[in-house]
Amino acid sequence: MLNIVLFGPPGAGKGTQSQKLIEKYNLKHISTGDLFRKHLSEGTELGKTAQQYMDAGKLVPDAVVIGMVEDTVAQKGPHQGFIFDGFPRTVAQAETLDQLMENFNMKINGMVALEVPVEVLKERIRERGKTSGRTDDQDEAKINTRIKVYLDETLPVAKYYEQQGKFAKVNGVGSINEIFDNICQEIEKF
Ligand code: AMP
Repeated sequence: MLNIVLFGPPGAGKGTQSQKLIEKYNLKHISTGDLFRKHLSEGTELGKTAQQYMDAGKLVPDAVVIGMVEDTVAQKGPHQGFIFDGFPRTVAQAETLDQLMENFNMKINGMVALEVPVEVLKERIRERGKTSGRTDDQDEAKINTRIKVYLDETLPVAKYYEQQGKFAKVNGVGSINEIFDNICQEIEKF
């Protein structure tokens, strides 16, 4: 079993790298942002609850996120572990994830953080907004809020894993394959 947290600010390339990692290591991808967008498009109650927060670029309350992740982890499959993308985003979520893993007799092997300068992030998000259809990628104020929320509320999650000796960082600027190779090198040390 290999359970990885892929960490980084919005626009760091977590989604792109996750797609390559799930193939290489046969992992199940749990992207809370993607799960919320699926709920939104299906018009579920959970989607309606999440929408107001997502529209504002703010975090959806922990209890809502955690319940959704728990349901997804509980679904069995042929995979060899999980890659968490965009989760955990608060220390409370990280603590609950550890508990959840323990309940399923699993553990988080480590976190890989993608490091990208803020100006590059903003440019990437604006570019993605041209094709993603995501309203939160198309509005400068929302982009700024998301980056601020990352710095204020999410960055402490890196420390949480660092204190457990489960943290590695990778330069998130470069070619997709180069970044991917560097992530794999770190994963193989976990
Ligand atoms: P993302 O696709 O990861 O950028 O997420 C899009 C939006 O979904 C975020 O701006 C939040 O509103 C919400 N979201 C996604 N993951 C989480 C999470 N782990 N905790 C709280 N809110 C989240």
